[in-house]
Amino acid sequence: MTTDYQMLIGGEWRSGTSKERLPSTNPFDREVWATIQQASPEDVEQAISTAREAFEGEWKHTNGLERARLMHRLAELLEADADRMARLETTDNGKVIRETSNQMRFAARNYRFFAGYADKLYGEVIPLDNPTIFDYTAREPLGVVALITAWNSPMGLLANKLAPALAAGNAVVVKPSEQASATTLEFGRFVEEAGFPAGVVNIVTGDGRVGEALTTTPAVDKISFTGSAQVGSIIAGNASKNLVPVTLELGGKSPNIVFADADLDQAVPGALAGIFASTGQTCIAGSRLLVESPVYDEVVSLIAERAQAIRLGNPIDPATEMGPAANETQYQRILEYIETGIDEGARVVTGGEPARDGELKNGFFISPTVFADVDNHSTIAQEEIFGPVLSIIPFEDEEQAIRIANDTMYGLASGLWTNDLSRAHRISRQVDAGTVWVNTYRTAAAQAPFGGMKQSGYGRERGAHALQEYVRIKNVMIDFGAEARDPFSIRT
Ligand code: NAD
Repeated sequence: MTTDYQMLIGGEWRSGTSKERLPSTNPFDREVWATIQQASPEDVEQAISTAREAFEGEWKHTNGLERARLMHRLAELLEADADRMARLETTDNGKVIRETSNQMRFAARNYRFFAGYADKLYGEVIPLDNPTIFDYTAREPLGVVALITAWNSPMGLLANKLAPALAAGNAVVVKPSEQASATTLEFGRFVEEAGFPAGVVNIVTGDGRVGEALTTTPAVDKISFTGSAQVGSIIAGNASKNLVPVTLELGGKSPNIVFADADLDQAVPGALAGIFASTGQTCIAGSRLLVESPVYDEVVSLIAERAQAIRLGNPIDPATEMGPAANETQYQRILEYIETGIDEGARVVTGGEPARDGELKNGFFISPTVFADVDNHSTIAQEEIFGPVLSIIPFEDEEQAIRIANDTMYGLASGLWTNDLSRAHRISRQVDAGTVWVNTYRTAAAQAPFGGMKQSGYGRERGAHALQEYVRIKNVMIDFGAEARDPFSIRT
């Protein structure tokens, strides 16, 4: 029996007016297990206008303490139901349960972090040259914000946006990916149960047409998007026509750099975490492994050995280390990139083909794939594959490592393995990436800002910096001097 999910609009669960449905397929067995609504442009319009009503009504007057209380309650509900939510997300996008379980708890942590800011959105008192003018700033909510997410970590990506948006007092319309909408919709139940006023959080579902309806309208005050650079660029173009501001969290081709002085017992698992965790379907995948020549051969063989030992299987099984690609399109895309890598002359060290043994036979499984001696200008080193495909590239010295690291259009994350403290600082400052990990990889914190440089996007999520994306700054000047002014000269 399949579940037929509805959408949350204005505090009511509704079917779409178009009656069109999209299937949700479990990537482990290719069974359709649920359907979602394809929202019509009218549904989207309705969601935006109920969000506007909610914002202008009760929500605008809800103080920070109350917003914080609601957000803590939301976190509590997610924590209490984390295991079920993790199973649901694993069924929907094939991420291994050990990852989705952690992600649910990390999402809850983010709601708690931003709840702490809800009653601390201070302005500043600014001393001016003119002593009779009292100047202060206020941080105000923007109004109605459209939040659009990708399929790879629906609940994690949503928390990155929704938590600061609610803390700042905005109302939202959420659109999850059509490939994995279930947990976002279930989360809507927690929003209701926590006691948010109807219409503050609306959830519409469907494919890119729904995203387009949300991002081509002047009726939203802000768009926050997580997805590919290609769609990010379309959204920025559409939004610019209405001068709607946009935050973009896009793809990456992140370099993970191993120096000869590194502790390889740490660096090798770090490299594996970078590319094979979540089947490589993470924006921060360390998909280019740059290795200094004295340890190059040793690292290539250690990585190959460890990659071959990765346990593929049903992602719902806690023992499974790597699950399937999340959907058929992604599966085909990854296989095409592998073909391209082979055609372009990279050396396949391990993997390079679908994995079909035993219980894997119906899923979108691909063996962990390692290419060595990759030219950084080749397609597999430049384009985001979003799959379990690692490109290993040798380098001779620091200068060359930095040059290769920065030689892509992306700038999301980077890793650096060395025991030389000065080098760690030197390189951290020279790599074009929003995140630099030194002797660690794929480490996240609610407090630390995350986001891209170059075509990995702009704006920041998590940490105090994220709040800035969801407020507008107002400056107020109050003249308490009694003198009449010269109307024909600017007052300073
Ligand atoms: P995608 O760009 O195809 O889709 C993302 C979202 O945009 C979906 O909800 C989709 O329905 C919607 N969309 C599609 N066309 C649209 C249009 N014309 N207008 C408005 N919305 C539209 O990305 P994806 O395949 O879902 O996700 C994978 C990508 O997301 C990768 O590039 C990955 O690196 C990136 N990502 C980035 C981060 C980050 O934080 N930087 C995190 C996770 C994923």
